[in-house]
Amino acid sequence: METIRTVAWMKEKAREARAEQRIIGFVPTMGALHTGHMALIERAKKECSPVFVSIFLNPKQFGPHEDLSRYPRPLDADSEKLTDAKIDGLFLPEAGEIYPPGFSTYVHLEGLSERLEGKSRPGHFQGVATVVLKLFEIVQPHYAYFGRKDAQQVRIIQHMARDLNLDVEIVVCPIVREPDGLALSSRNAYLNAEERKAATVLYRALLAAAAEIHAGTRDSLELQRAMHKVLNKEPRARVDYAEIVDAQTFEPAIRIAHCCYGLLAVRVGNTRLIDNMLIEQSGDEVRVDI
Ligand code: AMP
Repeated sequence: METIRTVAWMKEKAREARAEQRIIGFVPTMGALHTGHMALIERAKKECSPVFVSIFLNPKQFGPHEDLSRYPRPLDADSEKLTDAKIDGLFLPEAGEIYPPGFSTYVHLEGLSERLEGKSRPGHFQGVATVVLKLFEIVQPHYAYFGRKDAQQVRIIQHMARDLNLDVEIVVCPIVREPDGLALSSRNAYLNAEERKAATVLYRALLAAAAEIHAGTRDSLELQRAMHKVLNKEPRARVDYAEIVDAQTFEPAIRIAHCCYGLLAVRVGNTRLIDNMLIEQSGDEVRVDI
């Protein structure tokens, strides 16, 4: 596996692949790779060649009081995982390569980036959209793979791709979970043993709402109540939000109709965790994907 550290070099690799009519797959990450990341990579490998993975801990998507400085950076272990996965190239730029002195251009999505995660983490989605657009320009992918774990993020990237006529197909992959239901996340490493146990409360809250849906409930307030009931029983959990939203706009949905998300953001100890379920209704049939 080639480790590519500069923008110019990465662009050259992309140009070569495109000149050979090859289909470029791309998986952007912030490193500390886990099975969730590897599932995106496996999917990309099935559909594309070459496959490039980036590891870039993007400072612009972290707030001043967030966890940038303590975010895990196990680069040797990550490189080994990517070598074993037989990807074609790891794009591993320094921050100064992506944001040279004088950098001052940002992508801002009105509305969508100001709600929920955007409200709790001001500037976060501007940082995400800006870096993802830059990475797309540098890696030139035909297909880019994202996890549904970060549902609002992937919606924002789809929206940006549409608004800016980007020539890339966004592929959304399912959430990968631990056997006890906790969604895999690089931030799970922050949890101590007690918090790790408590962290399953997000999954349990989603299950409780899903059970209500299967029992016929369509009213969002009732579903939110079902989630809060589970979350409130966990003394280590502090709820940031537990909402049912329209899957396109991320505006609150009053009732389940068409396609919605149940979204959770919960602090367990000092660690902020997010999770979600996708709710799809067609006719009388409702499918809940957790
Ligand atoms: P990150 O390194 O946290 O920026 O994540 C990189 C990509 O991996 C994003 O598209 C995430 O949505 C995706 N991802 C993270 N955790 C999971 C998971 N548990 N299941 C599926 N995809 C995930």
